[in-house]
Amino acid sequence: MENKCVLCKGSLKKKSVDYKLYGKSVGRFDALVCGNCGEQWFDGETSKKIEEAEQKAGLFGLSKETKISYSGNSLIIRIPKELAKFMGIKKETRVILYPENQDKLSVTIK
Ligand SMILES: [Zn+2]
Repeated sequence: MENKCVLCKGSLKKKSVDYKLYGKSVGRFDALVCGNCGEQWFDGETSKKIEEAEQKAGLFGLSKETKISYSGNSLIIRIPKELAKFMGIKKETRVILYPENQDKLSVTIK
């Protein structure tokens, strides 16, 4: 493994880090952390362990592509089942739509 950060050439230090996904802790894993930019690098074996832990926690594959469809005069975004379960949303759940910019729409559960 490299001992220089691929992004900024900063020096890497071995550390145990609390790995988070979607704001949830997945567990602690050994990483090489860049002293300059803070980027965390995991080796192949650790990446595999992280993936397994994500699957166990039901966090794997929540980011998905979906298509916008029509209903009457409104546009509908379909939310995949796994994502709905993770977010705790169902039919009739009220949400606030907030356009962060023209490429990003934020959906906040009330
Ligand atoms: Zn770096």
